[in-house]
Amino acid sequence: MAEFPQLGDLARIAVLLNPTSGVPDAGDSGLGGPLSWPADEPWPQCAVGHWIHHRDPLSAAERREWQDMDEAREARARNGTGEHNVVTHEEAAAQKRIMNGASGLDLITWERISTRPDPCTDPVAMVPVMQLRAVDVPRAFEGRDADLLQVLWCPNDHDREDVAGGNPYGGPRLELRWRRGAEQGLTTAAPPQPRRARDGYIPQPCTLSPVEAWDFPEHDDLPDDLRDAVMEWCEDQDWDYHDDFACLGGWKVGGWPSWHLTDLQPITCSGTDCGRRMRLFLTVNSGGDPSLNVGRFGELRVFVCPDASGHPIALNIQ
Ligand SMILES: [Zn+2]
Ligand SMILES: [Zn+2]
Repeated sequence: MAEFPQLGDLARIAVLLNPTSGVPDAGDSGLGGPLSWPADEPWPQCAVGHWIHHRDPLSAAERREWQDMDEAREARARNGTGEHNVVTHEEAAAQKRIMNGASGLDLITWERISTRPDPCTDPVAMVPVMQLRAVDVPRAFEGRDADLLQVLWCPNDHDREDVAGGNPYGGPRLELRWRRGAEQGLTTAAPPQPRRARDGYIPQPCTLSPVEAWDFPEHDDLPDDLRDAVMEWCEDQDWDYHDDFACLGGWKVGGWPSWHLTDLQPITCSGTDCGRRMRLFLTVNSGGDPSLNVGRFGELRVFVCPDASGHPIALNIQ
């Protein structure tokens, strides 16, 4: 990509965290492990409302009926007697009866999924997602008066209005705690168990092997003239710009966010009189050894204001 010096100016260094199963020590960088915690600081709790997801298996007869309807629809399409996806009034009524008010059907496990507010309004203890030491990932601490970062979240779904940034995202509420470790008399904290947690929102403990790498913006994030030239060049060279150059995948600090599910959504800071375009700070990925499932097996991205560390974070899911 040496042909495009303008692209070089946009390159950012991302720190790929490369999580691997293993319990980190309380003072070390890692995911899902114990944290070094100030003895006199209360453990964070999430006190807003939560959504719970109830799963209820279809009976064998209901499952058979559903599959028969699918097969009948496919047969109509094959025989040219109807559109593949057209459901008859009778089928629609049968499906409504089988769904019984549920909001979704898991066709792998054949379970109805209903979502409803948690009747219990007691707070939920947040869980450790990540701890970073400045000695391991100095880049995460640039411009910050801190040498330890802790990321915690409430492992449940929430009202969208209750989640930082107000994006169309209703997953875990997340907090960053920046510390000067040496000054705070930290001890090993055994985190309290959350009274409720959704499957896929509890990270399995991992150690990290941080590696720095150049990261390039999504094509939507490029200036128009540069984007056209780069896309043309990639096509000539048989490269795929997104897959081969841009938006490195996996857990990372910094770098560029991918917009593979939605078009580019510039995220602006909600801090008082700010409105600046926010920068990607952290990408939390689904799957792998941490075994999380955010969004629909997607990425949760934490954006921070480039201006002031006191401004609120914003979350975005892809
Ligand atoms: Zn919560
Ligand atoms: Zn700001």
